[in-house]
Amino acid sequence: MPDPIPGLHHVTALSGAAQDTLNFYAGVLGLRRVKTTVNFDDPKTHHLYFGDTVGRPGTIITFFPWPRARQGHTGAGMVQSVAFAIPPNTIAEWAAHLDEADVSCRRTEIFGDPALRFDDPFGLTLELVATDGMVNPGAWEDGPIATEHAIRGFHAPVLPIFADDRTPELLTDLFGWTHIDENENRSRFRGPAETDLANVVDLQVQDRHPSGRMGKGTVHHVAFRARDEEEQKQWQTTLRDRGIQVTDVKDRQYFQSIYFRDPNWTSGILFEIATDGPGFLEDETEGELGETLRLPSWLESQRSEIEDALPALTSPTA
Ligand code: ZN
Repeated sequence: MPDPIPGLHHVTALSGAAQDTLNFYAGVLGLRRVKTTVNFDDPKTHHLYFGDTVGRPGTIITFFPWPRARQGHTGAGMVQSVAFAIPPNTIAEWAAHLDEADVSCRRTEIFGDPALRFDDPFGLTLELVATDGMVNPGAWEDGPIATEHAIRGFHAPVLPIFADDRTPELLTDLFGWTHIDENENRSRFRGPAETDLANVVDLQVQDRHPSGRMGKGTVHHVAFRARDEEEQKQWQTTLRDRGIQVTDVKDRQYFQSIYFRDPNWTSGILFEIATDGPGFLEDETEGELGETLRLPSWLESQRSEIEDALPALTSPTA
């Protein structure tokens, strides 16, 4: 059995216009755009990556902007909401900041931590959870919010499951995570203690979930970390040994990926395991990250057609 999964790697969602996505995630939430590229399976569509200063695993949220897509909504087999960790005692600053950006949010509490809940401009539900449990010294310094208040990385995404689903077993017996808390119908699982960021997942256990619809404002998949390609290979074998159908390794340029979706083991949600490396400094320096369109070598020959098909992007505005 491989070593326990250290935490989340990234979350990928569908949004609306690319510029609106940039304005919100960089201009309002203060994440850094760490890569501007295209959907490798559909190169006429952007793929935008946001994260901390260098896009460290556990901080990366990525989008396929899809302005003409139908509106999606969450339900069974889809991630319900995505949470980010903010430093303790920053709820008031964030509430004021969101208010100023005309984002209506409500205050709540999640497993004892104060939090803000709101929707992104495309309908995806987000939470900011104020906690001292997640540390990241690499928060982006040029965002619209003071660095000491900035988003640290992911907190727990919420995954809807049915009571007899085996997702808890996947997390504990395979991934090596621990069931640490229970609250009404939310079950909280945590990865290895040595990971200080993005190592929590909440399962929302219910007898019924409405059926979801993939589209604008929904999460496409959630990716967990493998430390390297060797470990990823071990996961592919381990999961296949349990009868879970896992894809071959796909080259995503900045990491290598395997995917699996199983009605029982993942409650129908698309899971990915992505390698920590090589990371976003693969083809740009830290100062250049995200500013210009990067293409993998196999698409470079089509650059001019691809650039013509993509909307122009300007610096984010709040
Ligand atoms: Zn992915």
